[in-house]
Amino acid sequence: MSDFYLNSNLLVYIGFIVGGVFGSFLNVCAYRIPIGKSVITPKSHCPNCGVNIPWYRNLPFFTWIMQRGMAGCCSFKIPIRYWLVELIMGLFFAYYAYLYSMDSDLFSLIIRASFTWLMVVVAVIDFETMIIPDRFSAGGAFAGILLSFYFPAMHLEIYNPSPWEHFSSGMQSVLGMLIGSALLYWIGAVAQIAIGREALGEGDVKLLGCIGAFCGWQGAIFAIFGGALLGTVLILPVMFFQRLKASQSCESSHSKIEWGGEIPFGPLLALAGLIYHAYASVYVDLWFNSFQSNF
Ligand SMILES: [Zn+2]
Repeated sequence: MSDFYLNSNLLVYIGFIVGGVFGSFLNVCAYRIPIGKSVITPKSHCPNCGVNIPWYRNLPFFTWIMQRGMAGCCSFKIPIRYWLVELIMGLFFAYYAYLYSMDSDLFSLIIRASFTWLMVVVAVIDFETMIIPDRFSAGGAFAGILLSFYFPAMHLEIYNPSPWEHFSSGMQSVLGMLIGSALLYWIGAVAQIAIGREALGEGDVKLLGCIGAFCGWQGAIFAIFGGALLGTVLILPVMFFQRLKASQSCESSHSKIEWGGEIPFGPLLALAGLIYHAYASVYVDLWFNSFQSNF
């Protein structure tokens, strides 16, 4: 018993460190891909003075804390977002390592980790640039469908799949992609008629296709409504306090979140998709099943 606890603890620590390393790479991708730079070359360098960053100043978690958010080479302040992404990825991977210590299911571990990386990189890029690169949304949807044909456990609870079950799982993925994209497309179209301008981007529609391809139609529907709910819960308090501050200081409310302002929906969709995939799918699917059996 004590051996088991030791192993499971060790796995969780390893998961945390590996998550931090993947988070660090994610930060590089989120910075370089939108501006069309390679993510492999050149080596990590300071975005301010261009000096190469040696490995000991490029450690996940530690560097930001040790240098108190400052770059080692110049007066550049490293945004806290870098550290937060590493921490979030570390925590997710630690959780997945814990699950792996329970079920020893290497395949699930890889799918969980990849989907999480994909959702977080999309969230960061969309949050900062209002763009979701096709390689992640459409590319992710394509990868999700291929993986679903190959690994039916993504959509079905089986361990020795027959050829028919491989096909069935792939079809569930295609269905999830189509239902997710179509539903969000129509919500966007109705909203556009209602408010008279574009409400949702094409990137959001493709991203939801990707979420549906990995999670099935239940996950896609959950992501839309969960994302809208998260938006309300997260953004309303921000708007409230900004109003409060603006009314106190009488400053112009330029560049602040306002009613009908441009808020990227992608990060909220990605976060809700992640919640479904990492935790909520059991409960959400049960709810959908009870709903179906009433008809
Ligand atoms: Zn520098």
